[in-house]
Amino acid sequence: MEWVYIVNNIRKEAIEDNERYVEKLLSKPAVGSAGATGTWRLTKPIIHEEKCRRCGLCWLHCPDAVIQWSPGEVPRIDYTYCKGCGVCSSVCPANAIEMVLEGE
Ligand code: SF4
Ligand code: SF4
Repeated sequence: MEWVYIVNNIRKEAIEDNERYVEKLLSKPAVGSAGATGTWRLTKPIIHEEKCRRCGLCWLHCPDAVIQWSPGEVPRIDYTYCKGCGVCSSVCPANAIEMVLEGE
């Protein structure tokens, strides 16, 4: 039936639009004019894998997009750019991210 084809096409386009939109929203860590911002850090987030629920909330909230995560996996932090703001630690529902003094 033609209308089924039309509806499916509209749905497919909407999904593709949404994926492009999300892709634009997600920034990627990169060397900016400020350089390797990890040198600004006073405290460092440490992920305790045994506590991690692999929910991805830290990845979602990191303002610098320096956390890599895939569904079902423990996230990884790119310390070259992590500024140590602690947002990831604050949003973690499992208290799996500990902020420790840099150099400890
Ligand atoms: S928010 Fe916490 S529990 Fe969720 S993936 Fe990050 S470290 Fe793991
Ligand atoms: S401390 Fe801040 S910059 Fe570093 S990973 Fe956590 S949320 Fe991102």
